[in-house]
Amino acid sequence: MSIEKTLAIVLDRIPFRETSSIAALLTRSLGRVSAIAKGVRRSPQSALVLERGLLVEIVLYVKPNRDLHTAGQVSVAAYYPSIRGDLGKLALRDAALELILRSVPAPETQTELFDFAREFLDRLEAADAATLPVHELWRFFLGWAQHLGFMLNLRTCLRCGSESVAAEGGSLAIDRGGLLCRNCGGASASGFIPGPAVSYLLADSSPGSDRFSEPLPGAVQKRLTRLFADYCRFHLEIRSALKAIGFLESVFF
Ligand SMILES: [Zn+2]
Repeated sequence: MSIEKTLAIVLDRIPFRETSSIAALLTRSLGRVSAIAKGVRRSPQSALVLERGLLVEIVLYVKPNRDLHTAGQVSVAAYYPSIRGDLGKLALRDAALELILRSVPAPETQTELFDFAREFLDRLEAADAATLPVHELWRFFLGWAQHLGFMLNLRTCLRCGSESVAAEGGSLAIDRGGLLCRNCGGASASGFIPGPAVSYLLADSSPGSDRFSEPLPGAVQKRLTRLFADYCRFHLEIRSALKAIGFLESVFF
């Protein structure tokens, strides 16, 4: 057994026996792991620190070749109050956490995956909640797929190579990982990604350089959210629909 102190995002938590919990974690140094927190439900205060969506610093007693480790001391590194206080942001966060839960093969060690997920939470926390910041979820979905080896090419048409798709949009060919321009049989209206959405997703992701200048109609936002979720499901081999997307659709679009 070894002892590891790491940052972790709490993906989910389920009760275990009388007083304990098992938390699913995306950790910075160990990848996706589960940790049992013994006796944590005896005190409401200690139960709170392993709440879903929090960024925590946690000590793990790691058993080699096992997926379930034991949690030691836990402290909260980020509460994300804006996300926790906004139903729309919560729904977007939960969609991202669900994708992580259902797609990362545990226990891989990929610090860039952790850093990318943390960056998503930071961006969601800072986003203006006046309109649902659903574009942050799109960026997360596509970036997550990219980190797992399935980059979506938004720069050129799959067939003719035209760069017009970046400005004018194109139809998503999910299985081929790219777009078809209007001239090349962008026949599927349901798969069309409008130019402003493509430009946004191509923009530099550093803060301030990524304003989503033209808000898209709700129906288009809904369609694109499902489209990008389907892109992830196809490539990451997730069979059933993401529950959080169903919730988003029923409440926000
Ligand atoms: Zn083309």
